[in-house]
Amino acid sequence: MVGERLSYVYHDAYGERGFSKLTDSWRRYALAGQVFREIGLLPPNDRATSACSYPLDEIEPPEADDESILRVHSATLLNSLEQADARGTGYLDYGDTPAWSGVLRRARLAVGGTLLAAHQVASGFTRRAFNPGGGLHHARRDRVGGFCPLNDIVIAVRSLQAEFDVERIAIVDLDGHHGDGTEALLDDEPILTVSMHRYGGRFYPGTGAAEDIGHGAGQGFNLNIPLERGTGGEVYLRTFERRVVPAVTAYRPEVIFLVVGADSHGADPLVRLNLALPDFCRLATHLRSLADDLCKGRLVCVAGGGYSPDHVVRTWAVYLATLTGAWEPDDPRWSRLIEDDRLASVGKTPFPVGSA
Ligand SMILES: [Zn+2]
Repeated sequence: MVGERLSYVYHDAYGERGFSKLTDSWRRYALAGQVFREIGLLPPNDRATSACSYPLDEIEPPEADDESILRVHSATLLNSLEQADARGTGYLDYGDTPAWSGVLRRARLAVGGTLLAAHQVASGFTRRAFNPGGGLHHARRDRVGGFCPLNDIVIAVRSLQAEFDVERIAIVDLDGHHGDGTEALLDDEPILTVSMHRYGGRFYPGTGAAEDIGHGAGQGFNLNIPLERGTGGEVYLRTFERRVVPAVTAYRPEVIFLVVGADSHGADPLVRLNLALPDFCRLATHLRSLADDLCKGRLVCVAGGGYSPDHVVRTWAVYLATLTGAWEPDDPRWSRLIEDDRLASVGKTPFPVGSA
């Protein structure tokens, strides 16, 4: 069974270098292609079989142009990225996000990928798309932050508003960190922004309190769900079902953006929210139902964080197999993926609430 096809955005430049300082995490893009071919989501490299009989339809993004970027970011920020790219050393921010020669092209490709995914969904070419290079939710109008040079999510929102006349857009950000850039950029307008994230102490970025609900015309359209370190799948899912499902349903979006956020996985070195693969499967099932019930299935997915590549790739695989309906529930690939992931997680989890 092939299931429904999904546009999978990929560029070779994704696999060359990421935006973080965690160099091992850069492997996730190339590894994803390898694993997706092994488990039958993408066709094998030899192309002996028709690509149409596989659920993922691989497409290459263009670089986002200045016009798209300047709908969201200041010319000052774009100029500073150009200068940092030419300089090739130092940082794009206060010391989290390295500058290197080629970083601006890489950022333009990440943004171009989310624009392409959003355009394909909005135009009806496909109902679902995934850009593993996207989800740069910490970038603000004038500021790079947290491995995010440009905010591809809001750039795509602006494009759908301007070019496709879409008004009601819901952003469900399940990255383990608060989507502070996205929240700030959309704070005073009625675009629904939902963020479930670890919160408290000195955990990055420090924003995302439940009281922050938006301002002006955007009041009530920002839903922050702060969570404790070590939350775990049971509490996470119950919270998602009680808070996020009703909020998105009541909003009646025309399209849903999802930040997958594989850094909520228990094996992630940065976040420690302790989700496991079956939890991501349940989340993907919820997102698929919400999109099908509310907006003709329109779902634009971007990766966001995730710094333990083997677990990240399995998390993405579970999402993509669920969203496309590629595998029957009794398909042995499910149990193999879940068991592999559980075994690989031993020693990395758990981190109970209240531990250091
Ligand atoms: Zn994150």
